[in-house]
Amino acid sequence: MSEGGKVRIDPPSDFPPAEDHYQRLWTPQRMSYVLGKGAHPRAQKNAKHKCPFCAAEKKSDEDGLIAWRGKTVFAIMNLYPYNVGHLMICPYRHVGYLTQLTDPELQEFEKATVLAMEVMRVVSHPDGWNIGINQGKVAGAGVADHLHQHIVPRWEGDSNFMPIVAETRTMPILLSNQRDAYASAFARLASQYDLTSNSTAHK
Ligand SMILES: [Zn+2]
Repeated sequence: MSEGGKVRIDPPSDFPPAEDHYQRLWTPQRMSYVLGKGAHPRAQKNAKHKCPFCAAEKKSDEDGLIAWRGKTVFAIMNLYPYNVGHLMICPYRHVGYLTQLTDPELQEFEKATVLAMEVMRVVSHPDGWNIGINQGKVAGAGVADHLHQHIVPRWEGDSNFMPIVAETRTMPILLSNQRDAYASAFARLASQYDLTSNSTAHK
């Protein structure tokens, strides 16, 4: 703020939220890079045929490790689970960002996430969950072009020394068996969430 030609700097304590311990390096010139080429989501039409989600969705439920199919979204086991029982919810459409979903897709995407939690609760009684989406490669998305919500069940004491000393995660149940257990629970519980199971869709 300028007062009589002098610049007045307001103390940080006048602004919410509380000050943290990080310093900020303000670099407004980088905005031209941020807004420049490559930062915007772009549909990569020719990348679609390499997409593992699009490929899995065309297989049978068993071969594609698909636990449930709705109208616009489906639930699929993670081939490289962070923890046993790791599921993902994906739209059928090959889009990378939540902002690209239609209202019906967005609604089913969120409801299917809640349904997946309930399925896990019934099948394997987790003590908690990690749920989230990495959107874009820069944010850590492994398959950045096809949106997927991770749903990872957690149990007390499920972190042990194996990932640290052996770079190995112990998985006490095979993916196919886990898929089977989830699939029957999804089929049983979907209607309680006003979700329509669509077992023949997109095969
Ligand atoms: Zn795809």
